[in-house]
Amino acid sequence: MRVSTNTWQVGDVTVSRIVETENTSLPPERLSTGLTKERVQQCDWLAPDYADSDGTLKLSVHAFVVESRGVRIVVDTCVGNDKPRANPHWNMLQRPFLGNFAAAGFAPETIDYVLCTHLHVDHVGWNTRWDGKAWVPTFPAAQYLFARTEWNHWTDEHRTTDDTGHIGKMLQMETVFADSIAPIVAAGLHQLVETDHRITDEVALVPTPGHTPGHVSVIIRSAGKMACITGDMAHHPIQIADPAICSNFDSDQQQSAKTRWQFVADHADRDILVFGTHFVTPSAGYIVSDAAGWRLIQKD
Ligand SMILES: [Zn+2]
Repeated sequence: MRVSTNTWQVGDVTVSRIVETENTSLPPERLSTGLTKERVQQCDWLAPDYADSDGTLKLSVHAFVVESRGVRIVVDTCVGNDKPRANPHWNMLQRPFLGNFAAAGFAPETIDYVLCTHLHVDHVGWNTRWDGKAWVPTFPAAQYLFARTEWNHWTDEHRTTDDTGHIGKMLQMETVFADSIAPIVAAGLHQLVETDHRITDEVALVPTPGHTPGHVSVIIRSAGKMACITGDMAHHPIQIADPAICSNFDSDQQQSAKTRWQFVADHADRDILVFGTHFVTPSAGYIVSDAAGWRLIQKD
Protein backbone atom coordinates (compact mmCIF):
# COMPACT_ATOMS: atom_id res chain seq x y z
CA MET A 1 0.00 0.00 0.00
CA ARG A 2 1.23 3.46 -0.95
CA VAL A 3 0.98 5.94 1.93
CA SER A 4 2.55 8.92 0.16
CA THR A 5 4.85 9.56 -2.81
CA ASN A 6 7.87 8.03 -1.14
CA THR A 7 6.36 5.89 1.60
CA TRP A 8 4.80 2.44 1.44
CA GLN A 9 3.21 0.15 4.01
CA VAL A 10 4.00 -3.59 3.84
CA GLY A 11 1.89 -5.14 6.60
CA ASP A 12 3.24 -3.51 9.76
CA VAL A 13 6.50 -2.46 8.08
CA THR A 14 6.97 1.03 6.68
CA VAL A 15 9.36 1.64 3.78
CA SER A 16 10.48 5.19 2.93
CA ARG A 17 12.57 6.28 -0.03
CA ILE A 18 15.20 8.98 0.45
CA VAL A 19 16.39 10.36 -2.88
CA GLU A 20 19.93 11.42 -3.62
CA THR A 21 19.70 11.81 -7.43
CA GLU A 22 16.59 11.22 -9.54
CA ASN A 23 16.02 10.82 -13.28
CA THR A 24 19.59 10.47 -14.50
CA SER A 25 19.54 9.71 -18.23
CA LEU A 26 21.54 6.68 -19.30
CA PRO A 27 22.06 5.49 -22.88
CA PRO A 28 21.07 1.79 -22.80
CA GLU A 29 24.48 0.53 -23.95
CA ARG A 30 26.01 2.15 -20.86
CA LEU A 31 23.90 -0.19 -18.71
CA SER A 32 24.41 -3.22 -20.88
CA THR A 33 26.67 -3.54 -23.90
CA GLY A 34 24.53 -4.41 -26.92
CA LEU A 35 21.30 -3.10 -25.41
CA THR A 36 19.73 -0.74 -27.95
CA LYS A 37 17.21 2.06 -27.72
CA GLU A 38 15.01 0.05 -30.07
CA ARG A 39 14.99 -2.86 -27.61
CA VAL A 40 14.00 -0.47 -24.82
CA GLN A 41 11.23 0.97 -26.99
CA GLN A 42 9.88 -2.55 -27.59
CA CYS A 43 8.92 -2.53 -23.90
CA ASP A 44 6.38 0.22 -24.45
CA TRP A 45 5.37 0.27 -20.78
CA LEU A 46 8.78 1.62 -19.74
CA ALA A 47 8.00 5.15 -21.04
CA PRO A 48 7.40 7.67 -19.66
CA ASP A 49 8.29 6.60 -16.10
CA TYR A 50 11.36 4.39 -16.55
CA ALA A 51 12.60 5.51 -19.97
CA ASP A 52 12.22 8.39 -22.41
CA SER A 53 10.19 7.76 -25.54
CA ASP A 54 13.47 7.74 -27.54
CA GLY A 55 14.68 4.70 -25.58
CA THR A 56 17.05 6.46 -23.17
CA LEU A 57 16.91 4.82 -19.74
CA LYS A 58 16.23 6.74 -16.53
CA LEU A 59 17.82 5.82 -13.22
CA SER A 60 17.74 7.02 -9.65
CA VAL A 61 20.10 6.77 -6.70
CA HIS A 62 18.22 6.50 -3.41
CA ALA A 63 18.20 4.84 -0.02
CA PHE A 64 15.30 3.04 1.63
CA VAL A 65 14.55 3.29 5.33
CA VAL A 66 12.75 0.18 6.57
CA GLU A 67 10.95 0.46 9.93
CA SER A 68 10.14 -2.86 11.59
CA ARG A 69 9.42 -3.77 15.23
CA GLY A 70 10.73 -0.43 16.44
CA VAL A 71 14.05 -0.58 14.59
CA ARG A 72 15.12 1.54 11.66
CA ILE A 73 17.20 0.03 8.89
CA VAL A 74 18.81 2.07 6.09
CA VAL A 75 19.22 -0.05 2.97
CA ASP A 76 22.07 1.27 0.81
CA THR A 77 23.64 4.68 1.30
CA CYS A 78 24.04 6.11 -2.21
CA VAL A 79 27.12 8.03 -3.40
CA GLY A 80 27.66 10.55 -0.60
CA ASN A 81 28.89 14.15 -0.60
CA ASP A 82 32.43 15.52 -0.89
CA LYS A 83 33.94 12.30 -2.22
CA PRO A 84 36.45 12.27 -5.09
CA ARG A 85 34.98 9.91 -7.68
CA ALA A 86 35.99 8.86 -11.20
CA ASN A 87 32.41 9.12 -12.45
CA PRO A 88 32.02 12.85 -13.23
CA HIS A 89 28.34 12.72 -12.26
CA TRP A 90 29.32 11.49 -8.78
CA ASN A 91 32.55 13.42 -8.21
CA MET A 92 32.56 15.73 -5.12
CA LEU A 93 28.78 15.50 -5.05
CA GLN A 94 26.81 18.13 -3.14
CA ARG A 95 23.30 16.77 -2.74
CA PRO A 96 20.76 17.55 0.01
CA PHE A 97 20.54 13.86 0.99
CA LEU A 98 20.72 14.44 4.75
CA GLY A 99 18.16 17.25 4.40
CA ASN A 100 15.85 14.85 2.55
CA PHE A 101 16.52 12.28 5.28
CA ALA A 102 15.53 14.77 7.99
CA ALA A 103 12.49 15.94 6.00
CA ALA A 104 11.29 12.33 5.91
CA GLY A 105 11.34 12.38 9.71
CA PHE A 106 14.59 10.57 10.40
CA ALA A 107 17.51 11.82 12.48
CA PRO A 108 20.74 9.97 11.59
CA GLU A 109 21.38 9.07 15.23
CA THR A 110 18.05 7.18 15.39
CA ILE A 111 19.13 4.62 12.79
CA ASP A 112 19.73 1.14 14.27
CA TYR A 113 21.14 -0.69 11.22
CA VAL A 114 22.71 0.18 7.91
CA LEU A 115 22.65 -2.57 5.33
CA CYS A 116 24.78 -2.32 2.18
CA THR A 117 23.39 -4.78 -0.39
CA HIS A 118 26.93 -4.82 -1.79
CA LEU A 119 30.05 -2.68 -1.48
CA HIS A 120 29.96 -0.70 -4.74
CA VAL A 121 30.55 3.04 -4.75
CA ASP A 122 26.87 4.06 -5.02
CA HIS A 123 25.75 1.87 -2.11
CA VAL A 124 28.18 2.85 0.64
CA GLY A 125 28.67 6.62 0.18
CA TRP A 126 26.63 7.98 3.07
CA ASN A 127 28.09 5.38 5.39
CA THR A 128 30.35 8.32 6.24
CA ARG A 129 30.34 12.10 5.99
CA TRP A 130 33.16 14.64 6.07
CA ASP A 131 33.18 16.55 9.36
CA GLY A 132 35.86 19.02 8.26
CA LYS A 133 38.72 16.89 9.51
CA ALA A 134 37.92 13.26 8.83
CA TRP A 135 35.37 10.80 7.47
CA VAL A 136 33.03 9.92 10.34
CA PRO A 137 30.05 7.53 10.52
CA THR A 138 26.88 9.30 9.35
CA PHE A 139 24.78 6.99 11.52
CA PRO A 140 26.75 6.87 14.79
CA ALA A 141 24.40 4.55 16.69
CA ALA A 142 23.97 2.04 13.86
CA GLN A 143 25.40 -1.39 13.31
CA TYR A 144 26.59 -1.50 9.70
CA LEU A 145 25.85 -4.93 8.22
CA PHE A 146 28.05 -6.28 5.44
CA ALA A 147 27.62 -9.77 4.00
CA ARG A 148 30.64 -11.87 4.91
CA THR A 149 30.94 -13.27 1.37
CA GLU A 150 31.00 -9.75 -0.06
CA TRP A 151 33.52 -8.58 2.50
CA ASN A 152 35.80 -11.53 1.88
CA HIS A 153 35.69 -10.96 -1.88
CA TRP A 154 36.81 -7.33 -1.70
CA THR A 155 39.32 -7.78 1.10
CA ASP A 156 40.95 -10.94 -0.22
CA GLU A 157 44.61 -9.98 -0.43
CA HIS A 158 45.09 -12.55 -3.18
CA ARG A 159 42.43 -11.18 -5.49
CA THR A 160 43.68 -9.42 -8.60
CA THR A 161 42.99 -5.74 -8.24
CA ASP A 162 39.78 -4.48 -9.80
CA ASP A 163 41.01 -0.89 -9.96
CA THR A 164 42.25 -1.28 -13.51
CA GLY A 165 40.37 -1.04 -16.78
CA HIS A 166 37.25 1.05 -17.32
CA ILE A 167 35.00 -0.85 -14.88
CA GLY A 168 37.69 -0.99 -12.20
CA LYS A 169 38.41 2.71 -12.49
CA MET A 170 34.73 3.53 -12.14
CA LEU A 171 34.33 1.24 -9.12
CA GLN A 172 37.45 2.64 -7.37
CA MET A 173 37.28 -0.01 -4.68
CA GLU A 174 40.48 1.10 -2.92
CA THR A 175 39.35 4.70 -2.61
CA VAL A 176 35.80 3.71 -1.66
CA PHE A 177 37.06 1.40 1.06
CA ALA A 178 39.28 4.13 2.47
CA ASP A 179 36.64 6.84 2.76
CA SER A 180 33.38 4.89 3.19
CA ILE A 181 34.14 1.54 4.84
CA ALA A 182 37.43 1.76 6.76
CA PRO A 183 36.12 4.56 9.06
CA ILE A 184 33.15 2.32 9.98
CA VAL A 185 35.49 -0.53 10.85
CA ALA A 186 37.75 1.83 12.82
CA ALA A 187 34.72 2.99 14.83
CA GLY A 188 33.83 -0.64 15.60
CA LEU A 189 30.41 -0.31 13.97
CA HIS A 190 30.59 -3.02 11.33
CA GLN A 191 29.20 -6.52 11.62
CA LEU A 192 29.80 -9.31 9.11
CA VAL A 193 26.66 -11.37 8.56
CA GLU A 194 25.58 -14.35 6.49
CA THR A 195 23.70 -13.70 3.24
CA ASP A 196 20.46 -15.01 4.79
CA HIS A 197 20.79 -12.95 7.98
CA ARG A 198 17.54 -12.02 9.72
CA ILE A 199 17.40 -8.45 11.10
CA THR A 200 13.91 -8.69 12.64
CA ASP A 201 11.24 -11.38 12.38
CA GLU A 202 9.85 -9.31 9.46
CA VAL A 203 13.03 -8.33 7.60
CA ALA A 204 15.78 -10.62 6.32
CA LEU A 205 18.55 -10.76 3.75
CA VAL A 206 18.44 -13.14 0.83
CA PRO A 207 21.48 -14.01 -1.33
CA THR A 208 21.24 -12.68 -4.91
CA PRO A 209 24.77 -13.20 -6.27
CA GLY A 210 26.00 -12.21 -9.71
CA HIS A 211 26.25 -8.43 -9.65
CA THR A 212 28.85 -9.05 -6.94
CA PRO A 213 29.70 -12.37 -5.26
CA GLY A 214 28.10 -11.52 -1.91
CA HIS A 215 25.24 -9.38 -3.16
CA VAL A 216 22.07 -9.54 -1.05
CA SER A 217 18.49 -8.37 -1.51
CA VAL A 218 16.05 -7.69 1.34
CA ILE A 219 12.84 -9.63 1.93
CA ILE A 220 10.02 -8.14 4.01
CA ARG A 221 7.20 -10.35 5.30
CA SER A 222 4.66 -8.81 7.65
CA ALA A 223 1.01 -9.38 8.50
CA GLY A 224 0.39 -11.43 5.35
CA LYS A 225 2.12 -8.92 3.04
CA MET A 226 5.42 -9.37 1.26
CA ALA A 227 7.98 -7.13 -0.45
CA CYS A 228 11.53 -7.27 -1.74
CA ILE A 229 14.24 -4.64 -2.19
CA THR A 230 16.32 -5.67 -5.20
CA GLY A 231 19.64 -3.92 -4.65
CA ASP A 232 21.56 -4.12 -7.94
CA MET A 233 20.28 -7.59 -8.77
CA ALA A 234 18.28 -5.44 -11.21
CA HIS A 235 19.34 -1.87 -12.02
CA HIS A 236 16.42 -1.09 -14.26
CA PRO A 237 12.91 -2.53 -14.88
CA ILE A 238 14.00 -3.64 -18.37
CA GLN A 239 15.92 -6.39 -16.57
CA ILE A 240 12.59 -7.54 -15.11
CA ALA A 241 11.10 -7.52 -18.63
CA ASP A 242 14.06 -9.55 -19.86
CA PRO A 243 16.17 -11.09 -17.06
CA ALA A 244 18.90 -12.02 -19.56
CA ILE A 245 19.94 -8.33 -19.80
CA CYS A 246 23.03 -7.99 -17.60
CA SER A 247 24.68 -4.87 -16.28
CA ASN A 248 28.18 -4.06 -17.51
CA PHE A 249 29.09 -3.83 -13.83
CA ASP A 250 28.02 -7.41 -12.98
CA SER A 251 31.07 -9.34 -11.81
CA ASP A 252 29.58 -12.65 -13.07
CA GLN A 253 26.99 -12.06 -15.80
CA GLN A 254 26.02 -15.71 -16.11
CA GLN A 255 25.25 -15.88 -12.39
CA SER A 256 23.53 -12.48 -12.47
CA ALA A 257 21.14 -13.62 -15.23
CA LYS A 258 20.47 -16.90 -13.41
CA THR A 259 19.66 -15.04 -10.18
CA ARG A 260 17.33 -12.65 -12.02
CA TRP A 261 15.48 -15.43 -13.89
CA GLN A 262 14.89 -17.15 -10.57
CA PHE A 263 13.79 -13.91 -8.92
CA VAL A 264 11.30 -13.06 -11.68
CA ALA A 265 9.94 -16.61 -11.72
CA ASP A 266 9.49 -16.54 -7.93
CA HIS A 267 7.89 -13.08 -7.76
CA ALA A 268 5.75 -12.78 -10.90
CA ASP A 269 1.96 -12.75 -10.65
CA ARG A 270 2.06 -12.68 -6.88
CA ASP A 271 1.12 -10.07 -4.31
CA ILE A 272 4.78 -9.08 -3.73
CA LEU A 273 5.83 -5.45 -3.95
CA VAL A 274 9.23 -5.12 -5.63
CA PHE A 275 11.33 -2.08 -4.72
CA GLY A 276 14.11 -1.20 -7.15
CA THR A 277 17.23 0.35 -5.71
CA HIS A 278 17.81 2.34 -8.93
CA PHE A 279 14.21 2.44 -10.21
CA VAL A 280 12.97 6.01 -10.67
CA THR A 281 9.56 7.11 -9.37
CA PRO A 282 7.32 5.18 -8.78
CA SER A 283 10.30 2.99 -7.71
CA ALA A 284 8.21 -0.03 -6.73
CA GLY A 285 5.68 -2.26 -8.42
CA TYR A 286 4.35 -5.75 -8.99
CA ILE A 287 5.75 -8.15 -11.59
CA VAL A 288 3.14 -9.52 -13.97
CA SER A 289 3.69 -11.87 -16.89
CA ASP A 290 2.44 -11.20 -20.38
CA ALA A 291 3.04 -12.61 -23.85
CA ALA A 292 6.21 -10.54 -24.31
CA GLY A 293 7.79 -11.42 -20.96
CA TRP A 294 7.19 -9.48 -17.77
CA ARG A 295 6.33 -5.98 -16.76
CA LEU A 296 6.31 -3.97 -13.56
CA ILE A 297 2.90 -2.49 -12.78
CA GLN A 298 1.24 -0.30 -10.18
CA LYS A 299 -1.74 -1.59 -8.18
CA ASP A 300 -3.84 0.28 -5.66
ZN1 LIG B 1 24.20 0.60 -7.83
